[in-house]
Amino acid sequence: MSLKLPIDVHAIKGFLAAHEGEALYHLAAEASAFGSSLEVGSYCGKSTLYLASACKLVDSVLFAVDHHRGSEEHQPGEEYHDPELFDEGVQLMDSFRTFRRNIRAAQLEEWVVPVVAPSAVAARCWNTPLGLVFIDGGHSLEAAMTDYRSWARHIVPGGYLAIHDIFPDPADGGQAPYDIYKLALASAQFELVEMVGTLGVLRRV
Ligand code: SAH
Ligand code: MG
Repeated sequence: MSLKLPIDVHAIKGFLAAHEGEALYHLAAEASAFGSSLEVGSYCGKSTLYLASACKLVDSVLFAVDHHRGSEEHQPGEEYHDPELFDEGVQLMDSFRTFRRNIRAAQLEEWVVPVVAPSAVAARCWNTPLGLVFIDGGHSLEAAMTDYRSWARHIVPGGYLAIHDIFPDPADGGQAPYDIYKLALASAQFELVEMVGTLGVLRRV
């Protein structure tokens, strides 16, 4: 189905295919029956645009967790570095300014709570039940495991865990997201709903 977003999603820098974004939109709409939604890894707000548009529709809230300092692959000299997102003053990546600008342009500020912090720090005092957790943060095994351990336990029964960048064949990409996906299934606390591109969608049983 073609879905109407408040701004042109192609204008937002990011790493998400349109069909994956549309799947996230529908998940966030459904998940609102169970609790709020939370994403780890917002970058410039591409996934946020899909998730928060659904939240607006059902008047739910999206927590958007990102320290906005970039993952390993976004750092200077790395494959996905974008000089436009580099803050020369502090010599660090900073995608928050662009993220904010995009969420404002999309008029979604009332449905997005930016949490500008490392995932593990944001999770330390977390106590809010979640209907959807979307993990799209750092791709090291440590980062992915931390995200899984920090957030999956807050998903209520019936709620969704969506993990991006799942590559069953190591030749296609890093294995950390796939590793936590397998861990979730092996825990028997989650069942597979569907795969949409590289997006694995699981449901908390
Ligand atoms: N979902 C985005 C892409 C996310 S890229 C889109 O649709 O385009 C991954 C993001 O994860 C980066 O912005 C990076 O800053 C963030 N990130 C990486 N490790 C993190 C951590 N430990 N805590 C919080 N954010 C992290
Ligand atoms: Mg990704």
